[in-house]
Amino acid sequence: MRLGCHLSVAKGFWQAAENAPKLGANCFQYFTKNPRGFRGAKPLDPVDAARGREALRRLDLVAVGHTPYLINLASPEDELYQLSIEALVQDLVIAEARGTYAVVVHCGKPKGESAAWGVRRMQEALAAVLEKSTAQGVTILLENTAGQGSEIGTHLDELLAIAEPFPKEAVGFCFDTQHAFAAGQMTAEHPEDYAGFSEPAYMDRLLAIHLNDSLVPFGARKDRHALIGQGYLGADAIRRILRDPRLDHIPFYLETPVEHEAQYADEIRTCRALLAQAS
Ligand SMILES: [Zn+2]
Ligand SMILES: [Zn+2]
Repeated sequence: MRLGCHLSVAKGFWQAAENAPKLGANCFQYFTKNPRGFRGAKPLDPVDAARGREALRRLDLVAVGHTPYLINLASPEDELYQLSIEALVQDLVIAEARGTYAVVVHCGKPKGESAAWGVRRMQEALAAVLEKSTAQGVTILLENTAGQGSEIGTHLDELLAIAEPFPKEAVGFCFDTQHAFAAGQMTAEHPEDYAGFSEPAYMDRLLAIHLNDSLVPFGARKDRHALIGQGYLGADAIRRILRDPRLDHIPFYLETPVEHEAQYADEIRTCRALLAQAS
């Protein structure tokens, strides 16, 4: 089973790949560029990307990119909307060069417009991205949201609607446990009852799981992660998710608020111990 964490690429993508196994990770996520901006990102270094690709193969790793938070594919403002499309096109190129199978993007915020308008706007954005993109073998993964502000993508129906016009090779899903819990879509008592897990149209496109505990209670509609077993979701819910046979072929990525990367070794150890526990 693949279990890993978010890693910094400040010292190069290649370095992140070399570090992953030292933390007990056999998969990892990285930011494609500065997470808080569109600019200030280092241009793609083809030598680093090639060394990283080689490291993924040698170390038997898989990785996904995560796009910057500023991307809003449902923005009613044309400038931000176009910048978001351009940024995602670039991120697909970066992910392809690094030999990584997908990039994760949060569902958008239509601000004053309706959720249905936001769904259509995101579909148009995704169609534009796929039209412009030359990248091969990289899937765009739509991440469910906690439902902050005008965010769409909390409900399964919205996620399915956004992806529906596209082939699954182009558009898939990333499931974030904290977001689903905070959005009131998955309980701590019965996480296995999350509607998506028994929906073939969802499971067919589910290519990544963000495994996070929650700093905020059920239904609080805030995106606030906690360390594994130290939040409102709790160790037992995390254990049930990790042991769910419907999810065992999907890579799990921790995005928990560690103080430094080395602490992910403890988080991964905690998860492996939960995985080994029947009840
Ligand atoms: Zn996430
Ligand atoms: Zn989050």
